[in-house]
Amino acid sequence: MTVYFSDGQFTKREELTISIDDRGYYFGDGVYEVIKVYGGELYTAKEHIDRLFQSAAKIKMTIPYADVQIMEIARELVKANNILTGHIYLQITRGSAPRLHQFPDPSVQPVVTAYAVNNPRPLEGMENGVPVKSVEDVRWLRCDIKSLNLLGNVLAKQEAYEAGCVEALLHREGVVTEGSASNMFGIKNGTVYTHPATNLILNGITRQVVLGLCKDLCIPVVEQSFTLDEACEMDEFILTSTTSEVTPVISIDGRPIGSGVPGIITKKLQEAFALQIPSFIAGE
Ligand SMILES: *Cc1c(COP(=O)(O)O)cnc(C)c1O
Repeated sequence: MTVYFSDGQFTKREELTISIDDRGYYFGDGVYEVIKVYGGELYTAKEHIDRLFQSAAKIKMTIPYADVQIMEIARELVKANNILTGHIYLQITRGSAPRLHQFPDPSVQPVVTAYAVNNPRPLEGMENGVPVKSVEDVRWLRCDIKSLNLLGNVLAKQEAYEAGCVEALLHREGVVTEGSASNMFGIKNGTVYTHPATNLILNGITRQVVLGLCKDLCIPVVEQSFTLDEACEMDEFILTSTTSEVTPVISIDGRPIGSGVPGIITKKLQEAFALQIPSFIAGE
């Protein structure tokens, strides 16, 4: 039996009720998080929950729970659903009210929904690398908010998918920003380059973990944007996200990166990433 959290309680999927008037449904008016579970333990949950509160504040929405309560909901879902390797999905919308663009009356409570799923680590892509397709980044200018409004991301991902790629490499007039649901890093002559954490990207928790690992491993990092042409000339290329961890990118638009196989620094970062997961179970 799958246990969900909705409307202040834990319920079975069959008993979930979502209102037609939910502003998430009408406007994508809400925020979300995905938190990874390894060995039955939440990973970097505090960082994700902090960002959830930051995203909510940026859209002027007050979450009707304290951060410790959100943590407790996440823990309970892991337990109730027996999750060993998987993730928690958490979303909060601005509540349910007749469809008007302006915010509803303050008495309307935001709606918190969450579930947990078993989801194996994407070991195949992590081992062999994945192809990406460049797609123009036509999203809005507040990509720093993990918002439910994902049409730009969805269209980009679909375009990549139709080209046989697993992710879109987004660029604004030739300047690489991030992926549709991941952050992008290029490695050239031993230095790691990635777009700075501005309003044009979502500052991934995995991105921040990887930047910390670079520091630990004495790998120089430059948080500076680079162009699509420069991306194609990198020695190695990586995408990161909660569910993708550190995944090598082996080609952009069919053009191989380096020798077209995952590189040395990429492998070092993957090893270091696995080692810092407290509840890591090899092969899971
Ligand atoms: C969630 C997300 C990421 C990755 O963030 P993580 O915290 O590492 O999962 C990157 N880009 C976008 C657009 C995202 O929505």
